[in-house]
Amino acid sequence: MTSPFPSPSLRGLMQDHPLLISSLIEHAARYHGDTEIVSRRTEGDIHRTDYAQVHARAKRVANALAGLSLSPSARVGTLAWNGYRHLELYYGVSGAGHVLHTLNPRLHADQLQWIIDHADDEVLCFDMTFLGLVQQVAPKVRCKHFIALCDENALPADTGIPRLMSYERWIADASPDLEWPVFDENAASSLCYTSGTTGNPKGVLFSHRSTVLHAMAAAMPDVMNVSARDTVLPVVPMFHVNAWGLPYTCTIVGARLVFPGGQLDGKSVYELFESEGVTFSAGVPTVWQMLLAHLDANGLKLTTMRRTVIGGSACPPAMMDRFRDIYGVTVNHAWGMTELSPLGSYGVLKAKHLALSPEAQRSVLLKQGRPQYGIQLKTSGDAGETLPTDGTTVGNLMARGPWVLQHYFKAEDDTVLDAEGFFGTGDVASLDADGFVHITDRTKDVIKSGGEWISTIDIENVAMAHQAVAMAACIGVPHPKWDERPLLVVVKKPNAVVTAAELLALYAGKVAKWQVPDDVQFVDAIPLGATGKMQKMKLRETFKDYLLPS
Ligand code: AMP
Repeated sequence: MTSPFPSPSLRGLMQDHPLLISSLIEHAARYHGDTEIVSRRTEGDIHRTDYAQVHARAKRVANALAGLSLSPSARVGTLAWNGYRHLELYYGVSGAGHVLHTLNPRLHADQLQWIIDHADDEVLCFDMTFLGLVQQVAPKVRCKHFIALCDENALPADTGIPRLMSYERWIADASPDLEWPVFDENAASSLCYTSGTTGNPKGVLFSHRSTVLHAMAAAMPDVMNVSARDTVLPVVPMFHVNAWGLPYTCTIVGARLVFPGGQLDGKSVYELFESEGVTFSAGVPTVWQMLLAHLDANGLKLTTMRRTVIGGSACPPAMMDRFRDIYGVTVNHAWGMTELSPLGSYGVLKAKHLALSPEAQRSVLLKQGRPQYGIQLKTSGDAGETLPTDGTTVGNLMARGPWVLQHYFKAEDDTVLDAEGFFGTGDVASLDADGFVHITDRTKDVIKSGGEWISTIDIENVAMAHQAVAMAACIGVPHPKWDERPLLVVVKKPNAVVTAAELLALYAGKVAKWQVPDDVQFVDAIPLGATGKMQKMKLRETFKDYLLPS
């Protein structure tokens, strides 16, 4: 069908500046040059730098990369914690027109080897914490250049890694003079693999444009709302979807950054929150559980923290309540995924919610939030039909927008979008008319009992409210009559006492009777994946022969 609207023939007369990642650090260095970047280093000390110095050293990184004679758009792998050198690589690599490939060091050496070769990484930069891992991987991968993120004198004499260089020496030898190259904003800027539960990991290849737009959207008041008055500590690792974009968002607004390095236990994170006056943070629920356990056990207070965003997995209501009621911290519940850069929705009230009772506001905030400008969401039925946005109908959650994936890396022939260009997220959710998302499950985790769906997240949230429960996972186990029935798997807090009957009693009046788990199993630990999420597939494997009480 031809469009009734003629193509516009008049071009706007405004300047044409591509949205390049180098422009973010240039801006921060120019207007927030003295704003601090604080890092707990793998060396053990606290290191202080600022945006001006990060910019200067990122230029050296770019020149040092030029000295390696890499291919155009060469992938540069990093195996590194959150820290200033990693930030310099974020800007130096992408700014030079290469592709920053953040690798997850929690993966097995064989998986890393597969990913490094699939990505064709030409350089691998790594924190010394991961020397042993790199020694295993280096002989097996095609990558030629290895850089250890340390001083020259911290480099061990004989590592067995060919031509290993120290980062400090490598960039000291490079020129500080550079005009950032200008190129198409749709050029690839960074690459991140998501480990699906089946098959090989898949690469999500971000562009300069998608990254800059995502960073601007993330900073907005109804999203992360970060500003030049904030001190931000991203607990979420820079190897997990670019720390949810915070290294870019903070740079855009000139926020002070505090990097925790590899020490993510409750005590270490708490110390940095207090000593550096952190106002905003971000992480998955498992990290906050460690922090809350440390605060509770030691009777501590958070004196500067105002807000934190929790996402990556469902935030248990009990966690949101404790942060607010005991520690005075507002929790914003967000949903997203690597394929969405990652932000898809963010939980902040609208004006019409302000008159609601605290309990009604709480129910709004417990959902996974609403889309920010740029993201459009819908739910679809199994035949692809669009479902109503009534807040109750549950279906496959679909997303589209300028920072949503179009194809996986090296799978450009695959179709992962529906006819309207929406990406199937693999999550099951309801949407209301304001766009508030309520995630009930991953498609593959949902329990189908007698043809009806049971939300494992809702079941887990009830159990997590019990003070003896450290972690709860609900999985489907085979049942002769109902196909599947829910089994609750629980890790108790140290020395806590609770029975299965006490936990099952919690469900009365909270969920429909047929959704109440048939049984509870106590375990020492629930397997967690490389990004801190419960691996329910492994649990299902463990309990596949489990016989429910009749
Ligand atoms: P990743 O790509 O590793 O960030 O994982 C993305 C997946 O994490 C999503 O597709 C969801 O299944 C899950 N997820 C992220 N945020 C939430 C949330 N707030 N509640 C429930 N699940 C979430």
